[in-house]
Amino acid sequence: MHLYQNQHLKVYNSLSGKKEDFKPLNEGHIGMYVCGPTVYSNVHLGNCRTFMSFDMIFRYFKHLGYKVRYVRNITDAGHLENDAETGEDKIAKKARLEQLEPMEVVQRYTLDFHTILEKFNFLPPSIEPTATGHIIEQIEIIKTILNKGLAYEINGSVYFDVEKFNKTNEYGKLSGRKLEDMISNTRELAAQDEKRNPQDFALWKKAEPQHIMRWPSPWGDGFPGWHLECTAMSTKYLGETFDIHGGGMDLKFPHHECEIAQAEACNGHAPVNYWLHANMLTLNGKKMAKSTGNNILPHEIFSGENEILSKAYSPSAVRFFMMQAHYNSILDLSDEALLASEKGFHKLMEAWENLAKLPTATVSSFDVAAWKQKCYDAMNDDFNTPILIAHLFEAVKHINLIKESKESITEKDLEVLKGAMNDFIFDILGLENKTATALDNGKLSDVIGLLIQLRNDARANKDFATSDKIREQLETMGIQLKDGKDGTTFSLS
Ligand SMILES: [Zn+2]
Repeated sequence: MHLYQNQHLKVYNSLSGKKEDFKPLNEGHIGMYVCGPTVYSNVHLGNCRTFMSFDMIFRYFKHLGYKVRYVRNITDAGHLENDAETGEDKIAKKARLEQLEPMEVVQRYTLDFHTILEKFNFLPPSIEPTATGHIIEQIEIIKTILNKGLAYEINGSVYFDVEKFNKTNEYGKLSGRKLEDMISNTRELAAQDEKRNPQDFALWKKAEPQHIMRWPSPWGDGFPGWHLECTAMSTKYLGETFDIHGGGMDLKFPHHECEIAQAEACNGHAPVNYWLHANMLTLNGKKMAKSTGNNILPHEIFSGENEILSKAYSPSAVRFFMMQAHYNSILDLSDEALLASEKGFHKLMEAWENLAKLPTATVSSFDVAAWKQKCYDAMNDDFNTPILIAHLFEAVKHINLIKESKESITEKDLEVLKGAMNDFIFDILGLENKTATALDNGKLSDVIGLLIQLRNDARANKDFATSDKIREQLETMGIQLKDGKDGTTFSLS
């Protein structure tokens, strides 16, 4: 018996605009594809939020007992500066500016991407394919679409014929756009544009002589269009139809719309049953953008080296902050919001540690089984992590009352509570409790113990300047001291 047989999961499908019952194509198995990063710069915090949402979804599916094949690609060619397929290839441009081989750029930023995701405690996907590793598959798809008469070749480039496709299929159904409206808004074709229609998109682009990333093809040397790689890789690893396709909200149009068109043109049916989109992250109420300076990189948050936040925040505190919002809604990052989340996260970790020391009794004063099901209900309702976290804090309240002997719990219920807290906090939300003992073989713990002792000595001598200095300096390093009736303890953020 698998957990998924008892839990009734609903997901919000961007394609229908509704919450739908989730039914995988093959019982017990899930195929999920998520559009990965274009590796030409350090990973953006907003992208981290998108990938974190799908990491949480992946974790929940696994927890429910599904066998999940999770494919998240790396875009290492074909993504042009301007999504409307003009301008330079993003990676080729960076390579030119920094005088590197394009693959050096790809290597550098793929490594950065993996390092940051590891800090955030992501699970690796099952397959992480690259666009350049699938040029042959992409060329085969172009040939098929050409054979079906839904693409045309011109001057060594191949374009998808959106208008013709729209006669038999519905282009724009995911993003809720109508081709007629798009056409009337863009009557004018740019003079240099060789496309029949501004809505047509490139499947293959001819490489100009100076273009460094190029491959041979039946249409001459060139490179694939950006949308094509995802169709090639998702079909190769998940089949012509698969369960879930995810990505950032900004990819809905044109990227995902074009993926649907390519797959339908090739196979004659829809590629994906459930389209899931993660929403964006803003910073201090405004869109994040390098150009305006309203931008922060993950490593700048972890180190505290930035001009936007008052202090450093740990990856788990940031992860907890992100999990406090539903993946589908816009989330605003600010110092106040992070401070509040960090505080909440410490409270949760403290309760988690207290769980090991709780006394048991012959009766429980709260219904642990009902509480546990409420946690599942929250996750089953389109992965509603903020509601789940609210339920976790309900448990925190009970844990603290039991600790103070104002409430009670049986041994059996305590085991259930511990198990569920462990599942939801660590396995599903992916948070980590970095206690000092886990770090540095306990040496850090000894050093902080010494500082606590020095601080106590200073206080005994009424040298409050020194005692305050010790506490404050530790705090800037992300170490919080807490004075209680059993002495001073510390926690790491
Ligand atoms: Zn994609």
